[in-house]
Amino acid sequence: MQHADIVHRCFRCGYCKFPLEYQDFNCPPYRQYGFDTYAAGGRMWLMNAWLNKEIKTSERLAHILYTCVACGNCKEQCVYKFKDFLLDIFIEAKSEMVLEGMVPPPVRDLFKAVSLSGNPYKAPQEERGRWAEGTGIQEYAGQEYLFYVGCAGSFDEIGQKMARSVGALLVEAGLSLGIMGPDETCDGNDVKAMGETWLFKELAKNNISKFNERRIKRVITLDPHAFNAFRHDYAQLGSLIETWHYSEILAGLVKEKALPVTGLKAKVTYHDPCYLGRYNQIYNAPRQVLRSIPGLELVEMERNGVNSFCCGGGGGNFFTDLLGVGEDSAARVRVREARETGADILAVACPLCARMLTDALKAEELDSDMEVVDIAEIVRRAR
Ligand code: SF4
Ligand code: SF4
Repeated sequence: MQHADIVHRCFRCGYCKFPLEYQDFNCPPYRQYGFDTYAAGGRMWLMNAWLNKEIKTSERLAHILYTCVACGNCKEQCVYKFKDFLLDIFIEAKSEMVLEGMVPPPVRDLFKAVSLSGNPYKAPQEERGRWAEGTGIQEYAGQEYLFYVGCAGSFDEIGQKMARSVGALLVEAGLSLGIMGPDETCDGNDVKAMGETWLFKELAKNNISKFNERRIKRVITLDPHAFNAFRHDYAQLGSLIETWHYSEILAGLVKEKALPVTGLKAKVTYHDPCYLGRYNQIYNAPRQVLRSIPGLELVEMERNGVNSFCCGGGGGNFFTDLLGVGEDSAARVRVREARETGADILAVACPLCARMLTDALKAEELDSDMEVVDIAEIVRRAR
């Protein structure tokens, strides 16, 4: 492990479990299980014991490591300098599990699916661009932007709907954009978060060469996970593309008055996706879009912005579901918090959050009081 020499620095003080104002536990696996083992401090102590050979590599240890949803709250709240490396340390520990062949079965299945099919859904790649049928959006052939929708946008029903809303709105605003269709491949962000760095690099190199072959310079992503990978990891691997998340583009269009809206009477609360917020400090753009709509009342959940509570879908858990869907699962806690604001719309800007929170609303039987809607669809309703 690259950062093995700093793992012992954790004091297990526990600040990393909370948001800034200590409203609730902000580490999803700790919130669910209530044992320090599942919070960053407990993980650090476990890893220290493991590095010192006081405990052995085991399925149990691997399971604990893989319940981290990589939300980044601990990195934000830990009071010590080594906090900058917390998420890297968790990835490095998972990489060791990969090398030792000790990953939990759902994680192994996910790696296999991405490796063999190019996506976690085991869906035929030829179906990648199906979501765009009827939208008028064509395959990329020199347009100004590539619209990269990712695996959830391509294959998840809610993600596809979101891809259509965003794509349609961008076209309505006059943007020139194309898609890669069947040639689009998994961005690998979550594969990396789960420690499969070799597979991640293969996916990244493959995607970068496809971007280069087509002379793609500007990319708009649907998914904050892809946005994060392109902006940071791909750049480190030599990619020269400029990347935006669609919420940033929408905020710019709204500011330039390129997306006129008439108004929408609704009370809306916004859920910050971790890979947009904590990983990339994009908190304002989605809110600017919502605030531009006359009649829309934006109310904040108690935990928002940097203190937001993850939907539980980060770090690959969206696909592996190691945290399950019980009453204390992150998504169900989050929709109860959203409903407490009195909002009738829970706004999202990530297809994974959209799916996690929609399912949680149903499980909580709150789906007749509130709906999960992405910010592009909200703008479309206001036109
Ligand atoms: S990771 Fe940081 S905040 Fe968390 S227990 Fe360790 S020292 Fe404390
Ligand atoms: S990244 Fe999130 S889930 Fe993982 S230990 Fe830190 S706070 Fe908990």
